[in-house]
Amino acid sequence: MLILGGGLAGVACAHALGDEGVAVTLVDRNDYHQFQPLLYQVVTSQLPAEDIARPHRTIFADYPSVQVVTAPVKAVHLIERSLVLSDGRTLSGSHFVMAAGARPNFFGVPGAAEHTFPMYSVSDAERLRLHLQRLLHEVMSGATTAEGVLDVVVVGGGPTGVETAGALAELMQALHESGRLARPGRITVVDRGPALLAPFSSKAHHYAVTKLAEAGATVRLGVGVSAVHPDRVEFDDRSVIPAHTVVWGGGESGAAVAQNAGPGPGRGGRLDVRPDLTLARYPGVYAVGDVANIPSHDGDALPQLGSVAQQSGRWAAENILRERRNEPTKPFSYKDKGIMAMIGRNAAVAEVGKRHHEVQGPLAFAAWLGLHAILLSGAHSKADAFLSWAWDYFDRDHAAFIEASSAPQRIAWSDDEHDEPHISLERHDLTIRSPATPSGDNHG
Ligand SMILES: Cc1cc2nc3c(=O)[nH]c(=O)nc-3n(C[C@H](O)[C@H](O)[C@H](O)COP(=O)(O)OP(=O)(O)OC[C@H]3O[C@@H](n4cnc5c(N)ncnc54)[C@H](O)[C@@H]3O)c2cc1C
Repeated sequence: MLILGGGLAGVACAHALGDEGVAVTLVDRNDYHQFQPLLYQVVTSQLPAEDIARPHRTIFADYPSVQVVTAPVKAVHLIERSLVLSDGRTLSGSHFVMAAGARPNFFGVPGAAEHTFPMYSVSDAERLRLHLQRLLHEVMSGATTAEGVLDVVVVGGGPTGVETAGALAELMQALHESGRLARPGRITVVDRGPALLAPFSSKAHHYAVTKLAEAGATVRLGVGVSAVHPDRVEFDDRSVIPAHTVVWGGGESGAAVAQNAGPGPGRGGRLDVRPDLTLARYPGVYAVGDVANIPSHDGDALPQLGSVAQQSGRWAAENILRERRNEPTKPFSYKDKGIMAMIGRNAAVAEVGKRHHEVQGPLAFAAWLGLHAILLSGAHSKADAFLSWAWDYFDRDHAAFIEASSAPQRIAWSDDEHDEPHISLERHDLTIRSPATPSGDNHG
């Protein structure tokens, strides 16, 4: 059994197969699983990067039948159910599960790939944190007095953009209120559409705008980004915002390796799967999580959400086990737990359960917490450590604590201190944690 990708989908699939003692090889370019919902906590120094990057070898320590290979995959051959690693090795399996996730989609906007900070991986978040930290030090030490150095444009008004904008606005406000920053950076979130948090209700749209405004951020809707330069963003209404930091939360498409795999990619560059998560014309091949267009009951594809990834990964494993027993596979049935977003401390919005019952504020935060504890449980057994960190985060008088340069409070996972992920920053090739032992290539 071969799985490409050790994110929420791949890990859930490998766990379910490993539980049955099935031999599994899981391949990922990183030696760790990354928990994307908490990336913006890394950006604003609320959490160190290693707290949301859990080594695969720890995750599978109690799964002797699961073997992890750390290497970038350069090609996939679906008919043979095999993949080619960057060092030329080929691996194959009786079944193949594509769980390679997604990548940022810049929609061809000139300069976006070169000059923005996408928010998809731990190294993306760490790179943005270090960039902001450098700018903050320059301003606080008086090394630069230029206006607008700390201004940030966040592209995309979905949950990623809104959560990041909210956290950055709070950071700026706290530094200003504590007297460390005379002029806080202006945070502007822009979206081409008419509302923030589009998949949510209109009440939530309004709530998000209000909460961001309270935190000091500006919202611009109905305007698209036409070009990004190192020091400014141009919009299609010919307006320009000077900014040295542009965060890209403007969209994503299926992982590159899936787009070149054979079947023409469907909507969003993702692989269209049948209701049982298999790929038509490729026996024994499944696609799950963000890399797949998974049909829902109403015919649309399910959204790219952690719970969809986790549940579909597990379901693919169950269908593989059925195939091994010569039983028919079953169509994927998604248990919708709702959608939620944290706009800042004390400002969360959630639509809970299948009926998307609307809640806001502390209740929404509690829902957010519950869902994230379930998602994290795939990689961490200590959900209570996460819950106590998160309650503290929610409750804390943040003005005294937030500082981009300080050591953030850790989640008390009580891991073995040697068992840490090897995170390196691709674009700047800056290693932030030296590996204790040699490992495979982290980034392809
Ligand atoms: C900023 C952000 C915030 C989010 N917040 C939420 C939230 O609050 N709630 C929620 O439900 N969902 C949230 N999501 C969505 C959720 O995180 C994803 O739906 C989920 O993580 C997808 O899991 P996956 O396993 O399909 O893909 P991923 O987690 O992306 O895993 C894919 C894996 O494949 C590996 N891989 C890819 N290509 C190769 C290759 N060529 N060679 C080797 N390895 C490869 C990658 O290294 C990666 O480990 C958020 C997403 C982002 C980006």
